[in-house]
Amino acid sequence: MANPDSHGVGEDEDGRGAALKQFVSAGRGRWGDVPEASWNDWRWQLRNRISTPDQLARLLPTLTPEEAAGARLAQRRLAVGITPYFFSLIDPADPWCPIRRQVVPRVEETHTAPWEMRDPCGEEAHSPVPGLVHRYPDRVLLLATDRCAAYCRYCTRSRLVGSAAAHNFQAHLTAQLDYIRQHTEVRDVLLSGGDPLLFADRKLDRLLAAVRAIRHVELVRIGTRVPIFLPQRVTPGLCAVLKRHHPLFVSIHSNHPRELTLEARAALERLADAGIPLGNQSVLLRGVNDDPEVMKAHVQKLLMCRVRPYYLYQCDLIHGSAHLRASVRRGLEVMEALRGHTTGYAVPTYVIDAPGGGGKVPIGPDYVLSRNGDRLVLRNHEGRVFEYPEASDGTPLPAASRCIHEPLPA
Ligand SMILES: *Cc1c(COP(=O)(O)O)cnc(C)c1O
Ligand code: SF4
Repeated sequence: MANPDSHGVGEDEDGRGAALKQFVSAGRGRWGDVPEASWNDWRWQLRNRISTPDQLARLLPTLTPEEAAGARLAQRRLAVGITPYFFSLIDPADPWCPIRRQVVPRVEETHTAPWEMRDPCGEEAHSPVPGLVHRYPDRVLLLATDRCAAYCRYCTRSRLVGSAAAHNFQAHLTAQLDYIRQHTEVRDVLLSGGDPLLFADRKLDRLLAAVRAIRHVELVRIGTRVPIFLPQRVTPGLCAVLKRHHPLFVSIHSNHPRELTLEARAALERLADAGIPLGNQSVLLRGVNDDPEVMKAHVQKLLMCRVRPYYLYQCDLIHGSAHLRASVRRGLEVMEALRGHTTGYAVPTYVIDAPGGGGKVPIGPDYVLSRNGDRLVLRNHEGRVFEYPEASDGTPLPAASRCIHEPLPA
């Protein structure tokens, strides 16, 4: 059994957890002479994204040969794009900077392990019309755009997003909406991509209104990394648009506590103040967040931004992601260090999106040690063992013999 003391997250003796939890501004980095108004303008941030090998080499003098080669080769697969804001979070002195590893390409991206795939979650096999994935009974995923504010090197949709192929998502919208109209079992529509919050306010308003106009759609959700890559986009105008289409949930994507800056927190507060429940999805990434102490600081910091950790994803088997993939064993260690050790609201569900299209499968440390005869043997977060009496056929025992809170006498 895991030793609860082995995680090093207990007392935070070296203060690393406390340091990780501080909210700091991204600063302006190498853009100190850019007018404040431009810096705070999301369109300026998009226009000035770092996207070429030359820009990377100029702005990051410590660019390694692996990164330089990655940048040269990336254009053939997944575009490079980093907002100046997010780039300013990179620690240039640290080649293993957790921000850098997520967005600066490396040559390892061009290596494909035999088990890696172009469409690891089998989305295309579950796509009744282009850009719509219907895998679960009552909800669909609508891919509204192929653009993101910045590109994550491990993106599970790198076959679609940011590619030179310029998929025409707009053209599919009519068919997507028709499909939802015809399928009255669809009560939840998840808008993603790509990043729908890159649409101009009016265009997003029209899209949300069109989805909302379908009588049987109860819930609309947006998956976005904009509050993390481009918090400047979360303007009062955007919040006013979103607010018109409740109940609307937003799932952000953040992996490391350093992404939760003062700017990101302010953007998330604006969304929360618009009445939008916020969740977070993280991807378990080697050397980025596969560390109990980092993850604990991250989930606690998310709560301070009014965001509830929702999913922790095992990194999908997308082409060229082996160098970023952490093991499931590591993921289980991270989860073990959360449950019981911090606020239950801070604990996400760890899932593997089953290769080939099986959907999200929850996994977690096993707290049921055995089921034998008339009892379950459980362990808690401290490693203490408890018994819960229940007949093996599932019949509950008479109330008098139940014992929920106390270990049974031996
Ligand atoms: C993740 C996902 C959803 C949403 O799943 P929830 O568990 O409801 O958040 C819906 N459709 C597809 C194809 C997905 O990958
Ligand atoms: S924000 Fe999401 S869709 Fe866009 S590159 Fe990152 S993981 Fe892919």
